[in-house]
Amino acid sequence: MALSELFKDKTVFSLEIFPPKTPKGRHNLIQALTGIQSIQPDFISITQSAAAGFSEQATLQLASQIQNDLNIPSVAHIPCLYHSKEEVADYLEELKAHGVENILALRGDACTDKPAVGDFRYASDLVEFIKGYGDFDVSGAAYPQKHPESDSVVSDTLYLKEKVQKGASHLITQMVFDNQDYWDFKQRLDLAGIHVPVEVGIMPCTNLKQIKRITEMSGIKLPRKFIAIMDRYADNPVAMRDAGIAYAIDQIVDLIANGVDGIHLYTMNNMENTQRIWEATHNLFQATQSSHFNANQTTQEDHY
Ligand code: FAD
Repeated sequence: MALSELFKDKTVFSLEIFPPKTPKGRHNLIQALTGIQSIQPDFISITQSAAAGFSEQATLQLASQIQNDLNIPSVAHIPCLYHSKEEVADYLEELKAHGVENILALRGDACTDKPAVGDFRYASDLVEFIKGYGDFDVSGAAYPQKHPESDSVVSDTLYLKEKVQKGASHLITQMVFDNQDYWDFKQRLDLAGIHVPVEVGIMPCTNLKQIKRITEMSGIKLPRKFIAIMDRYADNPVAMRDAGIAYAIDQIVDLIANGVDGIHLYTMNNMENTQRIWEATHNLFQATQSSHFNANQTTQEDHY
């Protein structure tokens, strides 16, 4: 089923994971994912490092295991700056042979010491190539506070529109810490005529170092409420984890109540935190399903 179809009758819940560097790490991750099968995310996306050479085989293996062994739809990330068209075509064939037909098409970050191959300059070039190549469902990345390289929100939105026009049928945002950023962004997309489902990226802030590195790289401006948590619990990792999970849950509750298309959880491969978030919010996701809503209505009517 095309990912964009999932959004028709519910708020989607999906996870992002990254391929561990060692076979043991991969084994542990699969074990952890098997252990949390009660979560049944709508899909799991698997990153691929553009900067660290060709890591596409690790992404492929994990995507295949998730799709075929765990029976959960998987999405393979493909950053394109360092791939030729032939390499992408070969990779798409491999993915297809493993039953993986959902792709998150990305440009990837440029490395200063490594020239790009030149076949793809922007993610939209890759989207166009994949859609022309075969029957794949393609998603794209989006930036509510604009991409750090963009001159303006306007140009960023227009280039995003191009990505959608070339075939991206669903968007996933960079991590969002202030829900208002997402609603403002959705309004801009509406005005620009971009009407595909947009999942909001939520990252539980449970590790101060990690969050600092990521926000420095991405240039995301953090809300005061979030900075206060980081300052208050910087020296207490256990409290920081609890506060980070509570903050993420609070964001999700508010987003679902206001009709978000979907939540994409940046898990950082931490399935314990993922489980905690799911336990606190799964009834809210379930309540968004039209069938569940109707069933509840009938019960209430019967009651009175
Ligand atoms: P693009 O959509 O190409 O945009 C990049 C910049 O170019 C933007 O400033 C845009 O406005 C501009 N632009 C676009 N089109 C044009 C045009 N025609 N003319 C002029 N300017 C243009 N990176 C990885 O390496 N591996 C991953 O697995 C990965 N997963 C990610 C998942 C998500 C959900 C997100 C949000 C990001 C992910 N990234 C990943 C990071 C991403 O690769 C970087 O943010 C990268 O800098 C931009 O990628 P993009 O696909 O958004 O690029």
